Amino acid sequence: MMISPQAADKLNASIEDLKNSLEEKVSKKLDLDNCHRMIQRLVELSSSCEACNQYFVDLEGHIAQLLDKSDQLTKNDFKNHHQILNNIRTHLMKKHKLVAKDYYLSIYMSCGLSLGLVFGLLFDSLALGLPIGLAVGIAIGAGLDADVKKKGRTI
Ligand SMILES: [Zn+2]
Repeated sequence: MMISPQAADKLNASIEDLKNSLEEKVSKKLDLDNCHRMIQRLVELSSSCEACNQYFVDLEGHIAQLLDKSDQLTKNDFKNHHQILNNIRTHLMKKHKLVAKDYYLSIYMSCGLSLGLVFGLLFDSLALGLPIGLAVGIAIGAGLDADVKKKGRTI
């Protein structure tokens, strides 16, 4: 089975409809721009992966549901939504070795902060150590993210 370009176009259009029917603040919360990229990946992979087909169908149903009640979304809808996106993201990362946008940056930033604490102890100054650690973390993380992007493996 394969996702047809028409089905993908339709889902992308539904997401745009949803975006337009929500306040900007709310639509940002739903991470809808990321949805487009995920759909793109699911379509590419659908010819060889049954799970990707299923995720696409799930997402289709879910977006239609949100669109249906876009003026009265509940906390549960948001929770559900992020759960679905997370499941897709995890599948794409584990099964297809793709990497979420800014994935390494977020990891190395927190590593950088820990490193900064160590520097801080070494220099006996956190005010000096933390920014250095953070800068190192950001440099490494951004470098790795750029590499992933160059190889076309970003979700
Ligand atoms: Zn897959």
